Formats: sequence, structure tokens, C-alpha cells
Amino acid sequence: MAATPYAEVIGDPVAHSKSPIIHKFWLEKLGLDGDFVRTRVTRAELPAFLAARRIDPLWRGCSVTIPHKQGVLGLLDEVDPVALAIGAVNRVTRDRRAGARLAGGNSDWSGFLEPLRPLLEAKHAVRLAYVIGTGGAALAVCHALDRAGFTIVSVGRDRDKAAALQRRLGLLGDSRALGLDEFAAAPPVESGEGADSLPLLVNATPLGMAGYPDLPLDLGRLPAATIVYDLVYQPAETALIGRAQALGMTAIGGLEMLIGQAAEAFEAFFGKPPPRRHDEELRERLAR
Ligand code: NAP
Repeated sequence: MAATPYAEVIGDPVAHSKSPIIHKFWLEKLGLDGDFVRTRVTRAELPAFLAARRIDPLWRGCSVTIPHKQGVLGLLDEVDPVALAIGAVNRVTRDRRAGARLAGGNSDWSGFLEPLRPLLEAKHAVRLAYVIGTGGAALAVCHALDRAGFTIVSVGRDRDKAAALQRRLGLLGDSRALGLDEFAAAPPVESGEGADSLPLLVNATPLGMAGYPDLPLDLGRLPAATIVYDLVYQPAETALIGRAQALGMTAIGGLEMLIGQAAEAFEAFFGKPPPRRHDEELRERLAR
């Protein structure tokens, strides 16, 4: 067997993951000796899987996807404070110099912010975000937006879960929780209007993904300056993104976050920053 260092994405199911395409693309561009594979790991298998990887000299780490982002927390030697605050890990690495300790981190939040950074360079009197969804991705998104000074309106098909998310991140006070039906019927747009405001709508549900219905929301009811950010990346251009573009709104698709979070992981696994000048070619490859 060739002694090739490797990293991987673990989950169950994992066959749909696009992570190998991204990491292999960068390995190839950099001419690095390394591989990146998909590994199906069930919940029951997770402890034994990590114990085996801990002593595998070729293993460089793993990206973590559904359903392990929360479950892996209790199996690691250390978890960075941001991942702890979000309550989810999306990357595990091993420190070989420190007794093969396994460390967890979260790059979903920073990957999410990456395409917004140019917009955040301006000053705004009001930064208002409507975040739809109350799962792991919504937690990372709300953490990122809170750090970027947004007031966050959490929207969930279960209003209680939206309120619980706000409590989990300590957002109460500034923020609100709404049911999806309630929000779709009357989005609270008043504070997002005005030249010095930055209104943002984030879809952090699977609605719009292949096999799911579209997000039931009339974008025409939101301020015209609203930036529409859809975390769904399959298809690369969702119906929500298409509707936003048709209304002249700035639209950001899920591939941006996918590539952004992978970039941080790649450096942690393979010790080199990925060559981001090829992002356009990578996006085309991912959209196929
Ligand atoms: P999750 O933890 O399972 O949470 C899913 C959320 O969507 C929950 O709030 C759930 O509500 C809600 N939801 C599910 N089906 C719904 C429906 N039919 N109508 C209304 N709400 C519905 O999943 P996640 O990890 O947060 O991921 C959410 C989405 O973000 C997925 O599409 C995922 O692919 C995408 N994502 C993208 C990236 C990226 O890099 N672009 C990264 C992470 C995630 P309940 O709790 O009531 O079920």
C-alpha cells in the first residue's frame, strides 16, 4: 500500500459530500502528495473510528458532517472555544507532538462570513439578519453574524426552537424569534430599510435543495437592498437565488461557504494554504 498521507470527510450518509472534490483539486494544484476520501461512519462506530485514526501515522484529520457535528464533541481531547460556543465541530485534527491529542474546531462560521467580508468593511447604522433554520448550520451562522454586529431575527418552522437557538448563543435582548409561517406572512422589515442599513436573509434549512420544496417566501416583501444568502449548494443556483437575482438583489450561493470552510480545514490538514486564485475553476467543477 502506498504511504500517502490522507484526510477525509466522515458522516452518515456521506456519499453526497463534495469535500473530496475541493481538497483533491487543491492538492493537485499544489502538487502535494496527499489524498482526501469519504468515509461512512455511523454514530455507533464513531468512538472506535477515532481511536483507530489517532494512531494511524498517515492520517491528517477529518472534516465532520451530519450526524456527528455535535456527537464528536465529547470524544476529543480539546475543542476550540468557538466550536464550544456554537456547540458543533466540523473538523478534527491530531497534534502528533502532544501525545496524538485530537482537537476539534469549527470553520463553518468563518467560511460563512468569507463572502460577506467586503460588504462588512463599510459602516452601517443597522445590520439586520433574518436567519431561517435552527439546526447546526444556523448556530454557526448566528455566531458569525453576532460577531459581525448584526441584530438577528431567528426564524424556524418551530418557533420554540428559534427562541432556544437565541438563548443558546446568548442573543436575547437584541434579537427576536419567529415561526416560519409568521415570518413569511409579514417579515419585520421596518428596521432593515434605509441607506445606512445592511439587511440580510439567510436560508439555513434544506429547503430549495434537490428533492425539497422551495423556501415559501416572497422576497418582494423584504427591503430591496437585502442580501440573500442561501446555504444550499445542490443545486449551485437555487430557486431562491434565482428569485433574488430577478429582483436585483445581491445573492450568495452555498458554494461560497463550502469552499471557505474547506480552505481553513485544508491548511490544518496539509499545512499549506489552498491556492484560492483557482476558485472560479473550482466553483465550475463543483456545480457539475
Ligand atoms: P440540521 O441541523 O438538520 O438543521 C436543519 C434545519 O432546517 C432545522 O431548523 C429544521 O427544522 C429545518 N428544516 C428541515 N426541513 C425543513 C422544512 N421542510 N421546512 C422548514 N424547515 C425545515 O441541518 P444543518 O446542518 O443546519 O444544515 C442546514 C442546511 O444548510 C442544509 O441544506 C445543509 O446542506 C446546508 N449547509 C451548507 C453549508 C455550506 O457550506 N454551504 C454548511 C452547512 C450546512 P426542524 O428542527 O424543525 O426539523
